[in-house]
Amino acid sequence: MRRTDALIVGGGPAGAATAITLAAAGRPPLLIERAATPRPVVCGGFLGGDALAALAALGIDAPALGARPIHRLRIVAGGHMVERRLPFAAAGLSRATLDAALRDRALALGAIVETGRAARAIEDRPEGGAIVRLDDGSAIAAPAVFLATGKHDLRGSPRPRPAPGADPAVGLRTVLPADPDLAGRIELHLFDRGYAGLLVQEDGSVNLCLSVARSRLAEADGNPARLIAALAAASPRFAARIGGAAATGEAWQAIAAVPYGWQQPLGAEEALYRVGDQAAVIASLAGDGIAIALASGAIAARAFLAGQSPADHARALAARTGRPIAIAGAIRRLAEGPHRALLLRAAALPGAAALAARLTRVGH
Ligand SMILES: Cc1cc2nc3c(=O)[nH]c(=O)nc-3n(C[C@H](O)[C@H](O)[C@H](O)COP(=O)(O)OP(=O)(O)OC[C@H]3O[C@@H](n4cnc5c(N)ncnc54)[C@H](O)[C@@H]3O)c2cc1C
Repeated sequence: MRRTDALIVGGGPAGAATAITLAAAGRPPLLIERAATPRPVVCGGFLGGDALAALAALGIDAPALGARPIHRLRIVAGGHMVERRLPFAAAGLSRATLDAALRDRALALGAIVETGRAARAIEDRPEGGAIVRLDDGSAIAAPAVFLATGKHDLRGSPRPRPAPGADPAVGLRTVLPADPDLAGRIELHLFDRGYAGLLVQEDGSVNLCLSVARSRLAEADGNPARLIAALAAASPRFAARIGGAAATGEAWQAIAAVPYGWQQPLGAEEALYRVGDQAAVIASLAGDGIAIALASGAIAARAFLAGQSPADHARALAARTGRPIAIAGAIRRLAEGPHRALLLRAAALPGAAALAARLTRVGH
């Protein structure tokens, strides 16, 4: 069986940040990534101040990748709208470009990055670490395994399924044509049981991303274009923003049952260093998921280098993610519930955006 010192499963922001940090410290890991080439994924593409700082610390210059600067936040709910300057510099960048840059950086520092290789299952090893079994029938054993499969679970390490009767969120994403009115802003449209976020990405096109309760998508027969049409019929501002674009048959990416608020349970003797969404899933509305993924990857790598066990790392990370996840969850409940206009009133208060950013910060 193939053996390696440190194995990272998943090459999104969390896995790549882990690989970069380990390689930069002279302990280049092996990273396996399911996708053969970086491709569009369900994500709003919003990089907040913490994400940009974490990227810079990893040696990634987001503006040089074409990330479009964002200075303002506009929130729309029904007939109400509020717009505020963001308390930090932010940017819009597609995940395909970001993920490619992160993996290239890991490679340049000496990490082995094998793409088009999917893990199928993970088994604990009695002597510590784990064995990862791949789809092609091969297996890799390592004393340190970093689980960075993000939104996807592996056999042997699943997160709990939604409870019967639950109404979990579905993530949806597509691309719309350029829209000069969105330059420099992120725009959020809040609606019953979900929200849509729009921003300009590096090629000038618009990233449209939605998080919506499964029940709400079901009311549109499970069809994203029909959902967009229903939202446009209920909101003239949303209709004006998307025009007829969403009905043009552009491809949609989708992810089912996003486990917002999930955190790795503590206490059990954990064999894996979990990073990114595999450690904690913050409500996407807060725009902090990539920042947490990057920070957790760097933190896990440093924990491993310092000889800390996965369980120690899990406790230290949970101490940093607990409050941001709880606060982002509360904001999400307000934004998607019947009193969402209250969120607009709160957002209009001076200092509100800075406070929200501070309270949802994990730090790196
Ligand atoms: C609707 C929505 C919108 C969002 N918008 C934003 C936003 O605008 N800004 C923000 O900061 N955050 C946003 N987030 C959150 C953000 O997308 C995640 O927090 C972030 O992607 C987590 O990074 P990760 O590396 O843990 O996982 P992922 O980004 O999911 O990456 C996991 C990687 O692992 C690979 N992989 C999966 N399974 C396997 C396997 N079996 N074997 C090998 N490789 C595998 C995948 O191909 C992928 O490359 C959003 C989330 C949702 C649901």
